[in-house]
Amino acid sequence: MKITVIGPWGGYPKANEASAGYLLEHEGFRLLIDCGSGVLSKLQTIVEPEKLDAVVISHYHSDHIADIGVLQHARLIQGFLGKEMNCLPIYAHPFNQQEFSKLTYKNITKGVSYQENDPLEIGPFTLGFIRTKHPVECFAIRFEAEGKAIVYTADTAFINEMIPFSSNADLLLCECNFYANQDGAGAGHMTSRYAGKLAKEANVKQLVLTHLPHYGRLEQLQEEAAEIYSGPIQLAHSGLSVTV
Ligand SMILES: [Zn+2]
Ligand SMILES: [Zn+2]
Repeated sequence: MKITVIGPWGGYPKANEASAGYLLEHEGFRLLIDCGSGVLSKLQTIVEPEKLDAVVISHYHSDHIADIGVLQHARLIQGFLGKEMNCLPIYAHPFNQQEFSKLTYKNITKGVSYQENDPLEIGPFTLGFIRTKHPVECFAIRFEAEGKAIVYTADTAFINEMIPFSSNADLLLCECNFYANQDGAGAGHMTSRYAGKLAKEANVKQLVLTHLPHYGRLEQLQEEAAEIYSGPIQLAHSGLSVTV
């Protein structure tokens, strides 16, 4: 599996960048994970939106779904221009019906619900879901294919359940919206130290810190996580690709 960071920013995108969005590819199948602000623009430097095969959404905060509407427009317009494409499935949780209903648009996209403890097959991937601790309902996602695993924490405060869920992952894509000396839990986010703790206790092979804050020296996040987790750690940035 190859995962490429489209947007590493939490809350909102930096100028000319994007908030949460990741492209997961395997055997020619392209799955977009979250579709935050700026994602549609940055995505086009890698692949045309009409070539996506599926989308999965962790939760309905704007920094994760802001560009769903323009993704729908892109596929509508490219369809008018003669491009052939299927109705795009957008997998998401059903616990906010108002938001979930917006995922279905003409015959362009269709919302499909997922549930905790109910693995889904999407193209070559098997997806597992676990509810996170966040101000709105949100799900972390484990992606598996051919014996490899990538875990995306989405947005969450540290919870012990994330340890078995992330167990032995080849890559942990972990949110890290706060520095070690801050209280992330109140906002439903993790600090660098908790990202390191999760990576260590789940025995993952590598850690990528994402959903980054807009202040401070970002390398400090990496240094703080490395005080706890001794494996390889990278900071997410637009265009970063990891193959497992
Ligand atoms: Zn977020
Ligand atoms: Zn959120």
